[in-house]
Amino acid sequence: MKQSQSLIPTLKEVPAGADIKSHQLLLRAGFIRQTASGVYSYLPLGKRVLRKIEEIVREEMDQAGANEMLMPALQPAEIWKETGRWDVYGPELMRLQDRHEREFALGPTHEEVITSLVKDEVKSYKKLPLTLYQIQTKYRDEQRPRFGLLRGREFVMKDAYSFHETYESLDESYQLMYDTYSKIFNRCGLDFRPVIADSGAMGGKDTHEFMALSDVGEDTIAYSDTSDYAANIEMAEVTPNYEKPTTSLKEIEKVETPNQKTMQEVADYLEHSLSEGLKALMFKVDEKLVLVVTRGDHEVNDIKLKNLYQASMVELATEHETKQLLGAGFGSLGPVGVSDKVEVVADHAVEYVMNASCGANEDGYHFINVNPGRDFTVAKYADLRFIQEGDPSPDGQGVVKFARGIEIGQVFKLGDFYADQLGALYLDDQGKSKTMIMGCYGIGVSRVLAAIVEQFHDENGITWPDVIAPFQVHLLTINAKKEEQSQLADKLYQMLQTSGIEVLYDDRKERAGVKFADSDLIGIPYRITVGKRASEGYVEFKHRSTGEQLEVHESNIMETINKMMKK
Ligand code: ATP
Ligand code: MG
Repeated sequence: MKQSQSLIPTLKEVPAGADIKSHQLLLRAGFIRQTASGVYSYLPLGKRVLRKIEEIVREEMDQAGANEMLMPALQPAEIWKETGRWDVYGPELMRLQDRHEREFALGPTHEEVITSLVKDEVKSYKKLPLTLYQIQTKYRDEQRPRFGLLRGREFVMKDAYSFHETYESLDESYQLMYDTYSKIFNRCGLDFRPVIADSGAMGGKDTHEFMALSDVGEDTIAYSDTSDYAANIEMAEVTPNYEKPTTSLKEIEKVETPNQKTMQEVADYLEHSLSEGLKALMFKVDEKLVLVVTRGDHEVNDIKLKNLYQASMVELATEHETKQLLGAGFGSLGPVGVSDKVEVVADHAVEYVMNASCGANEDGYHFINVNPGRDFTVAKYADLRFIQEGDPSPDGQGVVKFARGIEIGQVFKLGDFYADQLGALYLDDQGKSKTMIMGCYGIGVSRVLAAIVEQFHDENGITWPDVIAPFQVHLLTINAKKEEQSQLADKLYQMLQTSGIEVLYDDRKERAGVKFADSDLIGIPYRITVGKRASEGYVEFKHRSTGEQLEVHESNIMETINKMMKK
């Protein structure tokens, strides 16, 4: 493609509001433009890269025996009501009405559509297992669309769904998809890690997320420093290997703690460590109020709380609610004497504290020398806190460390929830009617694009991996007005194209400095510069990411490219 005839609007300055590298560079290098908040246009270069990623996904999915299809973005409300997700999905679901006031959603995902389709088309065990996929545009009215393509309101997803007779069959497809995802992300050149994840309230079982390692990632991965254990911090189980101190119990006492609100303030004021204080937070778990107690140095993990109650919603109670029920605001809540008013649950660590402090449910007061069992009762002890760096790894090997990750894909054992709700039944080999068992598997294709840029850039621009780059070769002249330079460049352009190499030819009448800067910014892996020695047939060859540079005679260009690409 000739640059003079294409739309590659590069920018010198970092655009306002673009906080992370992938967002900045994709805008600056002319790959994308924002059309509305969280909604982007892919310019010619962006579209080429997107297509490269899609092709890798497609090849590997096809290789795994999945069938590509395409479903509509526009989905009737009825099927969402049948599964109950019309209500559960909340404001993230983009809803609209047609001219007859019939309700629709713009699909954030396609379980409803595919399950009702398969319900109508697959009636016999002979058709199972079956895996279907699509690469399609999704809509989610995200609360905070940000970071460019990483969290859009309109984005490209590959979503796949598998249908089975048995859980064993689901396990096989799940493993196959897990392996396929690893191949896809390896081919994309990404540094990634599959992690154990939360399956949420939708009746699911096993699930893994694939995380591209990156400091801008919104997820925290807890991994073992010695084994290959890795989990989303939401899920990482804490091994309760606490010990009871050997001191003797002291008398409980109420003390004044004026204006001491945070755990740290109270600990400092009472002169003990954070771990000797008890933290009590009141949560609304679906409609029920629950007082959750942890040690002062621990944080409540709301996902674990939600899973404990198999709830669909968990949120902190308001200060108004805590005052009404327990008579105190956030800073003075505690578990003593409240079990007739609210259910008290506590993290395992709480069982092992001795002579601790806690809020007295009276503003400005705390109890000291509080002991579980003697001074307060707990309905249930459970793993309710976030794991911390240095905790023993849940698999018993080594200790936990943290890393940040961008969720680029997820594989999920759905079980029979959707098939059950939508009546996706089949006849087994005995002629008996049974409910299908399902799996679903997503890859954020456009998010992968941004994640690649997060991992592949330097101070001058993007450094695309060969297989993802929009073009393989960036061809340019130092001075396009010089006949011998433009003639040789024209000739090389023809030759490379005939050899099946994707070339972007910068034939613009710009200064060399401008062309080089744009070329570094765009990040095509191999650059051929036609300059001073054009008349002798020599050009300069440069590798974008390593900076490796050599003079090559035009007759050796193909050989050099082939050698470099194999490296
Ligand atoms: P997140 O937790 O990041 O909101 P999710 O778990 O809700 O994502 P899934 O329903 O698992 O997302 O969707 C499958 C994949 O689609 C995700 O793994 C992610 O790569 C991608 N994805 C999800 N939401 C977005 C978004 N708003 N913008 C771009 N990609 C997204
Ligand atoms: Mg997910």
